[in-house]
Amino acid sequence: MLNIVLFGPPGAGKGTQSEKLIAKYNLIHLSTGDIFRANIKGETELGKLAKSYMDQGQLVPDSVTISMLEAEVNKNNNAKGFIFDGFPRTQAQAVALDNLLKSKKTSITLMLALEVQEEELRKRLLLRGQNSGRPDDQNPEVIQKRIDVYNNETAPVKDFYTSQGKYQGVYGIGEIESIFKALCAVIDSKIKPTTKNASVKKVISTTRTAAKKIAKKKKVMKKKAAKKVVKKSTKKKAVKKIAKNKTTKPTKKKVVKKNSKKATKKVTKSVRPTGRKVAKKATKKKVVKVAKKKVIKKVTKPNRTTSKKTAPKKLAKKQAKKIVAKKKVVKKKKK
Ligand code: ADP
Repeated sequence: MLNIVLFGPPGAGKGTQSEKLIAKYNLIHLSTGDIFRANIKGETELGKLAKSYMDQGQLVPDSVTISMLEAEVNKNNNAKGFIFDGFPRTQAQAVALDNLLKSKKTSITLMLALEVQEEELRKRLLLRGQNSGRPDDQNPEVIQKRIDVYNNETAPVKDFYTSQGKYQGVYGIGEIESIFKALCAVIDSKIKPTTKNASVKKVISTTRTAAKKIAKKKKVMKKKAAKKVVKKSTKKKAVKKIAKNKTTKPTKKKVVKKNSKKATKKVTKSVRPTGRKVAKKATKKKVVKVAKKKVIKKVTKPNRTTSKKTAPKKLAKKQAKKIVAKKKVVKKKKK
């Protein structure tokens, strides 16, 4: 994250430069003065309280300002970074901001201070009062009060960031664009080397993780291949066993398969077959029955017929023989 404190006395041009910086670096602009003014416009309790201090050129109490700013930071959890404009204005606020950012695992990158002489500030503020209608810019006494408050209460905050090696002053008189360029040059000098290092580190870490991933994949592949070989060899062994001894018990898998077959048979039995199958089965049964009957008939019929046919023939033959014998007897008697 890129977190910048834009610092300077009233009328130094913090608001103007902030607008340009947030556009270039894609940051969230948090101006405590703007937030208070919005609350005054909305006639909120916070606005009413803030107005009573602002109209006199005094600072709004720390407790109120700090909790308001914390709420604003928390509203922007996905921010790439912040520009704090008009905050921190006291040592207590600076400490609170450090703690807040620490809790979010980030910190202030740098304090950019716009340095403008008091004479210039007074001129600017009076001019702004004529155009913007800000009441605190229209009264010379209030303007002076704000400059004094800055010198006494706010300027020491510079030391807070200097001790951290984060303070950077930029001359704030001249063309808006040239001041902006000067500010950008400071920011870029702070972030570019770190981003380069970061990108290099990223590349290294990503290649490392990629290598680790590949190694893991290779291991898994090897394991799989080993398992396959074991499976194949056990299969071959099983086949050989079966070939050698047909009575060998089937392997567990086969038992399962057999069981599953039985199960499926059971299932198919309990489940009604479809129309086609019923028809087929019925016809099959019919055919079988008819065939059986025919066979039985064939078997039984010829026997009957033959017995019927053969019996009278035999009788006839016997009778004929008897007749012939009788005739012979008669002939003999006649003789
Ligand atoms: P300027 O920079 O011209 O003073 P600001 O908009 O920053 O204008 O502030 C306007 C007024 O709002 C201040 O004079 C003060 O009363 C109040 N204010 C803004 N920021 C703070 C702050 N961080 N702490 C206390 N009061 C503040």
